[in-house]
Amino acid sequence: MSLIEAQAADQQDPLAKFCADFTMPDDVIYLDGNSLGPLPKSAQQRAREVVDNQWGNDLITSWNKHAWIDLPQLTGNKIARLIGADDGEVICCDSISVNLFKLLAIALQLNPGRKKILSQKDNFPTDLYITQGLNALVGENRCELMAVGAEDIEASLTDDVAVLLLTQVNFRTGHCHDMQEITARAHEKGIIVIWDLAHSTGVMPVDLNAWQVDFAVGCGYKFLNGGPGAPAFIFAAKKYHEQLSQPLSGWMGHKAPFDFSPDYEADPSIKQFLCGTPPIVSMSILDAAMDCFADVEVKDLHRKALGLADFFHKQLQVTGISSVLQRQTPEDDSIRGAQLSYSHPMAYAICQALIADGVIADFRAPDIIRFGFSPLFLSYEDMFKATQRLARIMENNTYKNPEFQIRGKVT
Ligand SMILES: *Cc1c(COP(=O)(O)O)cnc(C)c1O
Repeated sequence: MSLIEAQAADQQDPLAKFCADFTMPDDVIYLDGNSLGPLPKSAQQRAREVVDNQWGNDLITSWNKHAWIDLPQLTGNKIARLIGADDGEVICCDSISVNLFKLLAIALQLNPGRKKILSQKDNFPTDLYITQGLNALVGENRCELMAVGAEDIEASLTDDVAVLLLTQVNFRTGHCHDMQEITARAHEKGIIVIWDLAHSTGVMPVDLNAWQVDFAVGCGYKFLNGGPGAPAFIFAAKKYHEQLSQPLSGWMGHKAPFDFSPDYEADPSIKQFLCGTPPIVSMSILDAAMDCFADVEVKDLHRKALGLADFFHKQLQVTGISSVLQRQTPEDDSIRGAQLSYSHPMAYAICQALIADGVIADFRAPDIIRFGFSPLFLSYEDMFKATQRLARIMENNTYKNPEFQIRGKVT
């Protein structure tokens, strides 16, 4: 693989033009869009408009004048298109953690007589922590976490399980579950299914309604490029909207919040998942970032993400680096997400040395270096350059410098 080949691949890439939609510092190759997406120009513009004009000039009248009050649903509808949901089935709100609390409580109610929440031991920890918190609140008799290894999930789908809570793409390894198959197996046993789409939305083909998924959550600041701390979202299949009662019954989920009635009555639509006042500045930025996805198909994003990853890995093989960095991500396209993870005892230091050299990746404890292939703004030439720099760092042992061993609060 050569620079010429990389440039030829870029010429053929139908998504190459979207790179111009993003603001990126010079000479930075950003392989961390799976963790915090970069800044879309549309989002930058909207941030200025919301702060300077909507808030600055129109003040409180913006709730009506600029439809702030409808923003959670409007943004939700833009996300819905990427995950096979209908208008009115997705709402933008809170964080994944908070949204999981709402959904887990509901799912337990929908399955009275069962208390087990089945999840995966190496799931993203917040999914397990929230389940543990719910357990502490309602007690062992109503909620019990059963976290098993990936290989034991199918066998654990028994008819005493209330809820299955899984993440489609594993944040450490990039392994991807067969959502459709697992959802069908769970439903055969009467289990309610909640999928965490944190590493899927905007890059993995997901077809929630076709796959008959009950509930899902996903992230605004990863592949959707909604900015640091952007709100997350909830998907709830329409058939459940009339029979739910989520426990964070704040006034924005009330069917008539401005009646100021002393009694809570849930909105019959997806709005019932709102709790308090939406973070308008942050949600507006996410809403504008979604414009980058208006003219693309997720299957094309997915194809490019896999193509970039393959180019990257082949380069590591050519340079001999793949013998010291142990690939943890499956080879098979059908069971991997848009990332590559490698283990190395000094993964943290390698990551720091790369960042110092303008290639931003991230580290996941204990020993994983993770490269994300967010397809809207990355080129094959970026893959070539990034792997050249990584090879140089490994060959010269640059990562052993003491400065690269120091850990910040966020790793
Ligand atoms: C990033 C991520 C989250 C983030 O949760 P927040 O509560 O929104 O911070 C949750 N689950 C998974 C699988 C993630 O990768």
